[in-house]
Amino acid sequence: ATPTALMVGTGRGAQLGILIKGPEVLETTRRADTIVLDKTGTVTTGRMTLQTTHTTHGTTTTEVLRLAGALENASEHPIAQAVAAAATDTTGPLPAPEDFQNIPGLGVQGIVEGHAVLVGRPRLLADAAIPLPSALAGALAEAEEHGRTAVVVAWDGEARGVFGVADAVKDSSAAAVSELRALGLTPVLLTGDNRAVAEAVAREVGIDEVHAEVLPEDKVNVVKRLQAEGRVVAMVGDGVNDAAALATADLGLAMGTGTDAAIEASDLTLVRGDLKVTADAIRLSRRTLATIR
Ligand code: ADP
Ligand code: MG
Repeated sequence: ATPTALMVGTGRGAQLGILIKGPEVLETTRRADTIVLDKTGTVTTGRMTLQTTHTTHGTTTTEVLRLAGALENASEHPIAQAVAAAATDTTGPLPAPEDFQNIPGLGVQGIVEGHAVLVGRPRLLADAAIPLPSALAGALAEAEEHGRTAVVVAWDGEARGVFGVADAVKDSSAAAVSELRALGLTPVLLTGDNRAVAEAVAREVGIDEVHAEVLPEDKVNVVKRLQAEGRVVAMVGDGVNDAAALATADLGLAMGTGTDAAIEASDLTLVRGDLKVTADAIRLSRRTLATIR
């Protein structure tokens, strides 16, 4: 009876858009007591839009958009795509950058029309010892207070502008979080994004435990720390940055809308990329296990 029950379970799982890697996955869904949720692309749509632009005296919005946009056009990060889209809308076709470099979890750098440009988190400028003038520091604080991600732009050693970029929470996320709680799982939000944004999103969907400003290589350490506390950890993610953490989690769930790296590292794939299916997947897996026994 065992193989039949498994096939029924996985067959229905496929109908719901749930792909399970192997039968051992079912057992872990029963033991999991914690569910770590990546923010961008998992709890939120991952489709960011540029909402505000502030510049320093002497630099125009068009200039900041053009140089930052040219660089971001070469990056696949959702924030980069929002900046590049807004820049294209405002200034037309963007120049191609030279010596483009992606700095994971921080931003991008490269040469645009002879200028050495940096675009990314405030820490990227701090690391390069570029000071932030008070007008831009104010714009940055304001963006974060509104739950936007602040993106700073600098070239030739000077800070030039700050963008406020925002990403909407998926319609189904809050309901999905309460379903996960009802299944006995404590939700935890994990993100490289700043604390204010992370907490605004957590509040909106009903999560109390937040790990923010986590560098990509440290996401896996957050999972390990939770496991060291004796918790059995499920994790849902979509990005290349999530792959190691998904592989380390007791149960890794990947958004099918995410990257191949995340899908390969996971035990279970949610084809539709909807957090609500996470609760369905866990419920179905537990039920299938009960049928086998
Ligand atoms: P998340 O964990 O939210 O998916 P990442 O680890 O990819 O985020 O990035 C962490 C933070 O670094 C982002 O929230 C953003 O502030 C900044 N960042 C990373 N890449 C870029 C980029 N290309 N342009 C602007 N900011 C970036
Ligand atoms: Mg992500």
